[in-house]
Amino acid sequence: MIFVMKKDAKREQIESFAKKFEEIGFQPFISPGTERVSVCLIGNTASVDMDDIVETCDFIEYGRRVTEPYKKANRAFHPQDTIVNVGGHKIGNGTFTVIAGPCSVENTEQIMTVAKSVSASGAPMLRGGAFKPRSSPYSFLGMGKDGLELLKAAKKETGLPIVTELMEIADLPFFEDVDIIQVGARNMQNFKLLMELGKLRKPVLLKRGLANTLEELLLAAEYILAGGNNDVILCERGIRTFETATRNTLDLSAIPVLRQKTHLPIIIDPSHGTGKRDLVQVMVRAAIAAGADGAIIETHNDPANALCDGAQSLDLNQFDELMRDIRRRGEFEGKVMA
Ligand code: PEP
Ligand code: MN
Repeated sequence: MIFVMKKDAKREQIESFAKKFEEIGFQPFISPGTERVSVCLIGNTASVDMDDIVETCDFIEYGRRVTEPYKKANRAFHPQDTIVNVGGHKIGNGTFTVIAGPCSVENTEQIMTVAKSVSASGAPMLRGGAFKPRSSPYSFLGMGKDGLELLKAAKKETGLPIVTELMEIADLPFFEDVDIIQVGARNMQNFKLLMELGKLRKPVLLKRGLANTLEELLLAAEYILAGGNNDVILCERGIRTFETATRNTLDLSAIPVLRQKTHLPIIIDPSHGTGKRDLVQVMVRAAIAAGADGAIIETHNDPANALCDGAQSLDLNQFDELMRDIRRRGEFEGKVMA
C-alpha cells in the first residue's frame, strides 16, 4: 500500500506516520521524490483501512493498494521518473544516454583507441567486459582484473565513466572505481548478487534475462532497491524465442510496458538484441521512438578480429555515423542528448 503525501506535508508528520506503522509490524519505506514524498507499506495490508487513513490525515494526497509483487520499483510508489546520476551525468527523464565500447577489453591499444574514438563521436560513457560470461568455457573469458585496470586507464585518459559486468560477489572489491556495475542477462536472478548490490550506493545496470518476464525483471530490480540502492537502470537486451534470423528477439514493447510499470530508467541493447551490426542503427531509432532513455552499443576498432561478439559490433566509423543519427532522431523526439 502506498500513501502519497501532499506537497506541503511536513517531515515530522511523515516520519511519525511511518513510525506508527512500524510499531504495528509493517516495514514502511519513505521515498523522497522531487515533488511529493511517498510512504510505502510492505506486508499484509488487508487489515489497513486505507480510505479512513486518507480521510483522517490531511497531509496525505491519496492512497493506493499495490497489487504487483514489486513495490519500490513500482511507479505507484514513486510517480516521478528516477534519474540516475553518474558523476554529474543524468540518465533518465528526457535524456538519451549512449554507452559504447567493446564487448570485451582485449588489450591497451584496443580499449584506448575505442575509448578515444567513441568519446570524440559524443558517447558519454564507455563499456567493456573484463569478466565475461561465455556460453562455452573454451571461449575468451575476459581479462579479469587486468581488464578492469585497462578500463580505468581509459577512463583516466578520456574522462568517460565506465560500465562493466560483475559476475560474482568475490570480485566486488575490484569494482570500486567502476561507475556503473552491469548485471548480465545470465545473472539477472542471482539473488545473492542482487542483494549485495543493494548494499552499495552505486548505479547498477540490470539486464533482462534471456527467458525472463518483465515482472521477473522488476522483481530482480526490487532486490537491489529493497537494500536501499535506488540507482537501478533496466536494460532490454533481447529474449529467446523460436526466431533464428536474429541472435535474440529484441522486445521493443518492453520499453512502453516498463515505462508504465516503473519509474526506473530503461535502456536498450540492440547489439545483443539482434546479434547483427547492420540491424543496430534501425533498432536504436525504434528504441528512441518507443521512449528509451538510452542504448548500449558494442563498438570495436577491428570487429572482424574481435575476441567476442564481432558480428554485432560497429566499427568506429559506423559508431560515429550512429551518433549523428541518434542526435537527429533524439532532437526530433524531444530528447536531451546526454
Ligand atoms: C554484454 O553486455 O557483453 C553481455 C554479456 O550482455 P548480456 O548479459 O546481455 O548477454
Ligand atoms: Mn557482448
